[in-house]
This record gives sequence, C-alpha cells and structure tokens, in this order.
Amino acid sequence: MAGMRSDRMIRLSRSCLGDAEKQAVMGVLDRGFLGMGVEVQQFEHDLSEFFGRPAVCLVNGTAALHLALQACDIGRGDEVLVPSLTYVASFQAISATGAKAVACDVDARTLTLDWRDAESRVTPATRAVMAVHYAGGVGDIEGIYAFAQRNGLRVVEDASHAFGTTVQQIRIGSFGDISCFSFDGIKNITSGEGGCVVTDNEQVLQRVRDTRLLGVEKDTENRYLGQRSWEFDVAEQGWRYHMSNIMAAIGVEQLKRFNDLAERRRHLARRYDGLLATHERVIRLPLDYGAVIPHIYAIRIQGLKSQSTLRARMLEAGIQTGTHYQPNHWLTYYRDTTARPLPVTDAVFPELLTLPLHPGLEDEDTDYVCEKLLEFIDEH
Ligand SMILES: *Cc1c(COP(=O)(O)O)cnc(C)c1O
Repeated sequence: MAGMRSDRMIRLSRSCLGDAEKQAVMGVLDRGFLGMGVEVQQFEHDLSEFFGRPAVCLVNGTAALHLALQACDIGRGDEVLVPSLTYVASFQAISATGAKAVACDVDARTLTLDWRDAESRVTPATRAVMAVHYAGGVGDIEGIYAFAQRNGLRVVEDASHAFGTTVQQIRIGSFGDISCFSFDGIKNITSGEGGCVVTDNEQVLQRVRDTRLLGVEKDTENRYLGQRSWEFDVAEQGWRYHMSNIMAAIGVEQLKRFNDLAERRRHLARRYDGLLATHERVIRLPLDYGAVIPHIYAIRIQGLKSQSTLRARMLEAGIQTGTHYQPNHWLTYYRDTTARPLPVTDAVFPELLTLPLHPGLEDEDTDYVCEKLLEFIDEH
C-alpha cells in the first residue's frame, strides 16, 4: 500500500476551486472592469452579512494588518505586542507602520499569545496587542482582551487562520476591536490573494477605505458607482492596497461554499486527532473542532531531534510537511524585538510539525500520513 502512494505527492495545502469560481472570473474579464468596483462591493457586502459587522477588502492579509494599525494611529515611537511564533507577515505589518514589534512568548498548549508574558513586556510606549489565532484556535482570547483593557491597548487580531472559527457560538470578527483576515490561496477561503479588516469602529473603517486607495478621500464611494475621483484631498500616507474585481469574484463564490469547505477541514482534523491520539510523544493542539475551523494541522513531537530529517523522510514518502512558524525573533531584521528570552517559543518550535490539510485531502491520505509519521518518529 505504502509503495503505491509514492508516485503522488500529498500536498501540505492547496486551493480548492470549482467551476463557479472560474465562471465568476470569466464574467469579470468579459465585462472589462478589472479594478475595484461592483464585485468588491458585493464581496464586502457578503462578508459584512457573514460577520454582522462591516468588512473592508484589501489586496492581502498583510495589508489588512498594516492599515488596521495605521488607522489606530500607531506608528514611529509606538510598540505593538505580538507572539514571535507567527508568520513574518504579522511582524512586517507592524514594522511597516514605523512601530516596534515586541516579540512575546506563547502558551505551550495552544501556541497562542501568552498574555501574562505580554503584560510583563508593556512599557509606556505600548499601544496595541496583535493576537494571532494559531491554526484557527484563539487561545485565551478573553484573557487577552481583559489584559488589553487593563492597559489601555488596542487589539488587532491576526485572524488569518481563523476564518469561520467561533467563540461561544460567535464568529471571530463579529466581536472585539479589529479583526484581520487573509484570503490568500491556501486560507480557509481564498480570493486568489486578498484580505479584509472587520470592525464596527467607523473611524477605522473610513481610514482603511481611504488609505487602501493612496489616501484619496472617499474614492471608495465613487468607485462603487463606477466612477473615480478627479478632485480630491489626501490627508495622510496611503497605499495601493485595494482589492480587484477578479479577486472579489473568486471570494464571493468561495464564501458561498464555505460551509462545505469548513466541514471538510474539521472532519480531517478530527480524523488526525483520532489517528494520533495514542502516541505518547505526539501532542495535539487542544482544539474543539465544533468551534474551530482549522487552517493548519500542527503537532508537537516531544523529544524530536531533527525537524529537517523527519521532514525529509516524509517527503521521500510523498508527503509535504511544514513548520509553522520559525520564530520571528530568530530573524536578522527582528532580532532586537525581545530584550528577554522566549523560553516556550524557543523550546516548542524545534518540535513542531505541520501535516497536510486542505479540503481536497482524502481520508486515506490522513491514514497514510499518520502511518508514515508514526513509523519515522519511532526511528528518531
Ligand atoms: C496568511 C497569513 C498572514 C498574511 O496574509 P497574506 O494574505 O498572505 O498577506 C498573516 N498572518 C498569518 C498568521 C498568516 O497565516
């Protein structure tokens, strides 16, 4: 059985697109209006219904984080608390504003921000905390909000992994200060590339709408009427961060299929949980897939000596794996983001491994992945 698999690579992740998405893109191409117009307006409308709060679409999730921070007046001289164990996009979004990212430790079980550690790093310059919803789980999000409130901090959630996740039956994005999502090719839904900011703060919404279009005031309103602004004012630094109609057309169709895509993800994650439950060295994330829509399936392998050797063995068996994420404070550009050690992050990361997860994965694929994984772990 195992040998039969090696002719086919089991991918770590992949986009899941159908005829509806193709047709929608063709419709945009036929109409010949590729920029930001009615499809983006439609996608924002549908997302706003989904969340029950307004959504503003951007060119990617990193841009969403960047503009959300800028809209909170965060910039040079300010500090933003963020877990080191995140995609470098979180850090780049902070440094793009001129603010300093302050690397924090994570909770060893959930791999989300340890707010007690974050609280110990608060200074008079601290303005915001960026909570990262690792794998789709939100950790102690109530504790994070309580800590932010105690210290007068804004909360910008990097919810790139958590599209569709609920907390006490309420969707991430439907409550709290500001939530940012990514629709890149492999996220829970995609628009090719893309992202959005969700909040009910009117001032933040208007600033993000303007700054995504080079700061041209009220240009969004004109574009949704099929026009653009010729006489305008610009009052702050803006960026070329809007979403195109091509992207939005894909996103609209993906959102319609979201329940099916989500169901497949949670089914596969539960299946992995079951298959790996009995191995004493494998630690699974403590996620309830009734509430969490998993973006990735990451495990910790206690006593793992070489992540790269294990990953190479898996690859030889036709299985792509990943490591989410190399800590940011290990990177040259961000090595000054921590004055004190991050013991949990430093200890946990070398033992992390991410297994394939996407809606196109078959049940038998998870069986094969776990069979090989457990075989190779026992060799190490
Ligand atoms: C995907 C992702 C982002 C950024 O999204 P892009 O759309 O790729 O810019 C930010 N943070 C995390 C944790 C992500 O996984």
